[in-house]
Amino acid sequence: MNAEIISIGTELLMGELTDTNASWIAGRLPPLGIQLQWVSIIGDDLPKLTQAFRDGMARSDIIFTTGGLGPTQDDLTREAVAAALDETPQVQEAELDNLRQWFRNRGQDMPAHNVKQAHLIPSAAFITNRNGTAPGWWAQRDGKHVICMPGPPGENRAMWADEIDHRLKSMIDTEVTITRNIKTLGLGEASVDEIVSEYFGLENPYLGIYSKADGIHLRIIARAADAAAARSMIAPVEDAIHDRLAPYIWGYDDETPELSVGAALLQRGLTLSTMESVSGGFLANTITEAPDSSQWYRGGSVAYTIPALLAQGVDAVILETHGVVSQQTANAMARTAQIATASDFAIGVTGVLGPHEFEGHRPGTIHIAIAHGSDVREFPLRTPPRRLVIKRRSCNTALTELRKLISDVAP
Ligand code: ATP
Repeated sequence: MNAEIISIGTELLMGELTDTNASWIAGRLPPLGIQLQWVSIIGDDLPKLTQAFRDGMARSDIIFTTGGLGPTQDDLTREAVAAALDETPQVQEAELDNLRQWFRNRGQDMPAHNVKQAHLIPSAAFITNRNGTAPGWWAQRDGKHVICMPGPPGENRAMWADEIDHRLKSMIDTEVTITRNIKTLGLGEASVDEIVSEYFGLENPYLGIYSKADGIHLRIIARAADAAAARSMIAPVEDAIHDRLAPYIWGYDDETPELSVGAALLQRGLTLSTMESVSGGFLANTITEAPDSSQWYRGGSVAYTIPALLAQGVDAVILETHGVVSQQTANAMARTAQIATASDFAIGVTGVLGPHEFEGHRPGTIHIAIAHGSDVREFPLRTPPRRLVIKRRSCNTALTELRKLISDVAP
């Protein structure tokens, strides 16, 4: 089945709002085996929207829309679908009662404008919106589907989870689509591309390459009559990727660096601490995104200046001899954190955030150290000189290298 997405709203065309809904929906379609062919943005304009629905129904099996389901006059999605299908919306008493109840629950009377949201055409059914007043519309005609969701992400994501995802799955039950994400760090996109180049260009299994904040991801997608057949199509590609890129692979599927590190430490009963300067707390913040981090993360400090590094116990001689931005200082930060918290592993991160050089080093110069037992592993790094990129890369590199080290020293 092929699909298109229409993001509706003049705000989107004015550059006042970024269309994150379309990319979010796009990301849900490959695992369902739905091929996305078109994405458009259209303002609150009835003739243009109506034409877009007519064109969309001629070329796509499914049209997804977000936006334009509110109660105001410029919310025109319902009217445009009705016009494209040549049907007249009628008020639905049961839905009107639901809406009145929704307002009563909040101690308010329903404004007259909201009656519009209880209208439906004969070819459509409502999609329940547990987070707002605007129900969605699922229209069906001649084997084509038009699925209209509200604009606010909190509303359309809940709607997708509650009602849309499983209905799409049951519509596409003739084929099973399985995806496998393999996450690498340490090689650039072009190098990864070259190493596995012979697998690109196939339709099934399909191999995609994506550059992300935590490295280069490879995604294999296979479609087959059943899950076992799809998995057996993925296996040879995954094995080849593994053979060629094993030292760079740090995780699979939905794993994040912090979840992967957390699971490995928890399983082995090991602990971690940190001392960071250049990442300004980003590392500790990322680690504590893992829900069970209190069980394996002992804590960390942000020692952003020399007095703070000294206060944390970093050796003044090392700072004076090698400078703050040095591998020796990163090593001393890791070792100091490890001793202070009696943790099994400790990460030290120092470097230059910019915009100016520091101690003669340019922004994006990073030194990471990971202490374990009496050993300290060193990971010098260079990143593009943008503050958020520096923080993200140093944090992701520290965690993915730690993940590999845990497997090496405590298999
Ligand atoms: P409402 O009932 O809230 O008016 P609606 O379906 O009419 O919902 P819009 O009025 O078009 O939706 O948009 C409401 C809000 O939803 C926008 O201000 C914006 O915050 C968010 N939104 C809308 N479209 C998008 C989009 N394509 N990507 C991300 N956010 C969006």
